[in-house]
Amino acid sequence: MPPNTNPTHSKSTKRSSLGDEPNQESAPARGDDLLADAGESLETSEFYSPVPDGYVRGRHKYVAVFGTVMSGLGKGIFSSSLAKLLKGKGLIVAPIKLEGYLNIDAGTLNPYRHGEVFVLDDGAECDMDLGTYERMLDQDLTRENFVTAGQVFSEILTRERHGEYLGRDVQMIPHVTGEVKRKLREVAMAGDGSGPADVVFVEVGGTAGDYENGFYIEALRELAFEEGTDSACFVALTYVIEPPALGEQKSKAAQLGIKRLMEAGVQPHIVACRAHNPCEPSAMQKIAMFSNVPLNRVFSMHDRVSIYQIPEAMRAEGLDREVLSILNLHGRVDTVREDEARAQWREFVRNLTKPDRRRVTIGVTGKYAALRDSYASIDKAVEHCSSHLSCIVELRWIETSDITDRNVAHALAELDGVIVPGGFGTRGVEGKIACVRHCREHHLPYLGICLGFQVAVIEFARHMLGLEGANSTEFVRDCTDPVISELPEQKRIEQLGGTMRLGGQDVVITPGTLAAFLYGRSSAKAGKSSGAPFTIRQRFRHRYEVDPTYVDQLESGGMVFSGRHPQQPIMQALELPGHPYFFALQSHPELVSRPLRPEPSFMGLIAAAVARRHPDADAAGWTQPIVKARA
Ligand code: GLN
Repeated sequence: MPPNTNPTHSKSTKRSSLGDEPNQESAPARGDDLLADAGESLETSEFYSPVPDGYVRGRHKYVAVFGTVMSGLGKGIFSSSLAKLLKGKGLIVAPIKLEGYLNIDAGTLNPYRHGEVFVLDDGAECDMDLGTYERMLDQDLTRENFVTAGQVFSEILTRERHGEYLGRDVQMIPHVTGEVKRKLREVAMAGDGSGPADVVFVEVGGTAGDYENGFYIEALRELAFEEGTDSACFVALTYVIEPPALGEQKSKAAQLGIKRLMEAGVQPHIVACRAHNPCEPSAMQKIAMFSNVPLNRVFSMHDRVSIYQIPEAMRAEGLDREVLSILNLHGRVDTVREDEARAQWREFVRNLTKPDRRRVTIGVTGKYAALRDSYASIDKAVEHCSSHLSCIVELRWIETSDITDRNVAHALAELDGVIVPGGFGTRGVEGKIACVRHCREHHLPYLGICLGFQVAVIEFARHMLGLEGANSTEFVRDCTDPVISELPEQKRIEQLGGTMRLGGQDVVITPGTLAAFLYGRSSAKAGKSSGAPFTIRQRFRHRYEVDPTYVDQLESGGMVFSGRHPQQPIMQALELPGHPYFFALQSHPELVSRPLRPEPSFMGLIAAAVARRHPDADAAGWTQPIVKARA
């Protein structure tokens, strides 16, 4: 067992074992004190550790979550749940994910291998875990909250070319770790946009022992040393196996995994044990003993019905209190706020886990239908609605490559609604168009997302306007009627190095439309009574759009473009009056759905599906004006 060299840990452990409250005793020397004693500055010494201007040491605390044993344990869920608890206590939190891969962002990653690409309001393309943070915290993140090894190295190489390392040989330590620490401190200063962070939650991608994330672990070890006592709380997320043949839990893998972390100089303050069933005391005792962590700081994080139960489960076990003690944060907590935040959340979770809810089935067409992670945000957006509309939504994934006008009725039988989600490339597109046609002609509720918006336009042009050759130039470059095409504006962006229209944009909603009904319910700016246009914020990731020269023709045929770009002729939302629910967005509404603020286009779809399957059911007012007025 390596000696405990971490001053933060030795103090906090002592305090917990005595059971006393945080105190103001004089702190042991911190890393920077040691450096100051040596008469050197952090920037020029061997301890190169760039600190952003204006950074106040001791102001910000850091919780770092490391994976051990294996990946896929839900570090993001753990970290965001804990962050949520602390945010609920009035603290400003800022999450950051450190990815080990060399890609600059997630834009080029195959969602089939890596899960969906999540797009932030500022246009950053990142890991789907950022979606977990945004949803759990109900907080918009920025590109600063997502770091890849590729970003770190490319910035270092740029600095090196500019001579910014003053003749030094540039090394993993201190330069690479220094840049990582700089990023962590920058996130601390940026906070949540409203103020600097009280606590930064650092999720280290991968598993302790991987080559890829070793420099992140080292950077965090250094950061804790430099920031000093009470500033960092290290969490080892581990896994307790339960081989079916043995029928009992075994902690050896967890012990070995945590040991890898300790070999890297990181002594965890908290161990969180993922497991299928609640962890047995004997397993937790062994883990506590072998990892130097008091038993009251070893927690069972076993599987729950819903991830949204985890914050309350953590609270019930006292995990949040232990973290506050380790970070000496009890004094910054606001308990009144905490009670309000919990009540709303509990109601949401209760509705989500009620067993006796009515059921609906929604089909989702998609190339990556084999992998649920590829559509994680759609899954979540639907889940949010299912709580607010008291229903269980079964998602049925539909591979469209073999769907034609002839077999589509069979493929979509038993469905109460259909989502055609975003996608790229030609595969399965004709099948999706057949699905849209079926939904339009048979009054099956339809929600089109990005590509689903574009195929709705193509289908309408072909079958309602008689433009048989209607298509997108993405699929048939020289089609006779390119109703969806890459616009000159987009081509200009590409010449500047960008590839897509990415990130948050305002959408102007036309009064008196289904869009105005849906978004008017949730938008304070809606101006419903005055019937004035209002704007909503959506997130985009696309290259093609409706060719403006076809807009008049499409609208004369009965399609209504109810959402538009504030200045340019870019169509953003469409609908078909007279249909119970036919709505599509050029954006990705699933990216902005939050548990307590479900996305209106999804609410409309699920409510219409409920109304179709259970005609007497109450859909919380989300369908009445549409279904009854236009049926
Ligand atoms: N492939 C289409 C485009 O680039 C749709 C993109 C998407 O669905 N995200 O415009």
